[in-house]
Amino acid sequence: MFKEDLQTFAQHHLLRELSLINSPPAPVISVEGREVLLFASNNYLGLANHPQIKIAAVKAIEEFGVGSGASRLISGTLTPHHTLERDLAQWKGVESCLTFSSGYATNIGVIPSLAKADSLILADRLCHASLIDGCRLSRATLRVFHHNDLDHLKRLLSKRPTHASTLIITEGVFSMDGDLAPLPEIAQLAQEFEATLLVDDAHGTGVMGPTGRGTVEHYGVNPGHLLHMGTLSKAIGSSGGFVAGPKDFVAYLINTSRSFIYTTAPPPAMAAAASAALAIIQQEPQRRIKLWRNREFLYNGIGSMGFQLTNTQSPILPIIVKDPELAVQMSQRLREEGVWIPAVRPPTVPKGTSRLRITVTADHSFEHIELALRALQKVGAALGAL
Ligand SMILES: *Cc1c(COP(=O)(O)O)cnc(C)c1O
Repeated sequence: MFKEDLQTFAQHHLLRELSLINSPPAPVISVEGREVLLFASNNYLGLANHPQIKIAAVKAIEEFGVGSGASRLISGTLTPHHTLERDLAQWKGVESCLTFSSGYATNIGVIPSLAKADSLILADRLCHASLIDGCRLSRATLRVFHHNDLDHLKRLLSKRPTHASTLIITEGVFSMDGDLAPLPEIAQLAQEFEATLLVDDAHGTGVMGPTGRGTVEHYGVNPGHLLHMGTLSKAIGSSGGFVAGPKDFVAYLINTSRSFIYTTAPPPAMAAAASAALAIIQQEPQRRIKLWRNREFLYNGIGSMGFQLTNTQSPILPIIVKDPELAVQMSQRLREEGVWIPAVRPPTVPKGTSRLRITVTADHSFEHIELALRALQKVGAALGAL
C-alpha cells in the first residue's frame, strides 16, 4: 500500500523527499559537501544563527538544563517561559500571551478553545494547514471564503445562523503567496457582526510594520480588536509558537487548550533565545531595513525577467509555474546552478498553482541576489518558463 501510493505521488511529480543540510540556516549552506545559496528559509532577519541569541540559549541550558521535565501545568513553567510571555505581550501591545511548542501546536490548540461544535468558523481559502487542522479538531462548522474576498466574507456573515458564535480566521502575510490580508476591513466586519478575529501572523511577526511588530502594526489596526497568533521559528529565529490577547483569554487557554496542557513545556533555551531575539529586533532596526532592501532588489530583478510573481507584498517571492513537473525541474536545475529554491506543489498550494517559493533574508548580500537572479534567468530560459 505504501509503495503504490508513493509510486503514484512520483508519477504525478508530487513525491516529497528530505534533503540533508550540514550547516546553519545562513545564506550559504552546505549540501553534500557543496556550497549552495539558500533562498528558502523563513529566518528573515538572520537571527537563527545570531551569536548573541546562541549565547542566550547556551546560558539558559547552563542555568535551567536542556529539557523542561514536565508540562507547563505540572512543573514545566520555568522563568524563561514567563519572561518570554511577558516580553511578547508587551511587544504586541496586549495584556497577555501564551507560548506553545510550535506554531502548529498553537493553532490546533487555540482554535478548539475558541470554537465549539455549535460555532461557525469562516476561514480564508489559503489558510495554513495548521489552521485548517485546528478548525477540524474544534468540530465547528467550517466555511471557507475566497482568498481576501471581503464581499464573500460579508455574505457568509450575513447568512449565518443567529445563535452560533463566529470565529473569522485569516493570515496576516500568506505563507505561500506572500500577499497581505485586508486586516482593517476584516476587523471592521468582525466588529460589525460580533465575531472573534484570529490572525495568524507567522510570516508578519518581525517583518511587517514600522517596528516589526507585525501585520497588525503595518495597518495600524487596534491590537485589542483581534487575537494574534505567531511563531517563534521564523523571523524570531528560535522555535515555538504563541498567541496574544486579553488576560482572560489566556487564562481560558491554560485551562482548555489540549496542545498546551498535554505536552511537555518547550525547552527553556528556546524561550530564552526568543526573548533575546525580541530585544535584538527592537534594538537593531537596520536588520529589517536590510531585509526590505534585499526584497526590493530581488523583486525588481525577478519582475524584469518576465516571470509571473504572485501579488506579494512581503519577502516571500513566489514564481508561479503552474505545472508541478516544471516546478520540480526548475528547482533541480537551480540546485545544479548552486541556488536552493524549493518547488511547492499541491496539496500545500491549490492545483495548477505549483510554484518556486523564493524567500530572501537580511543576511543575503546583493551579490548573493545577483547570483540567484542569473541562475533564474538561465534556468527559466532553458526550460521555457520565461
Ligand atoms: C509556519 C507556519 C505555521 C506553523 O508554525 P511552526 O512554528 O513552524 O509550527 C503556522 N501558520 C503559518 C501561516 C505558518 O506559515
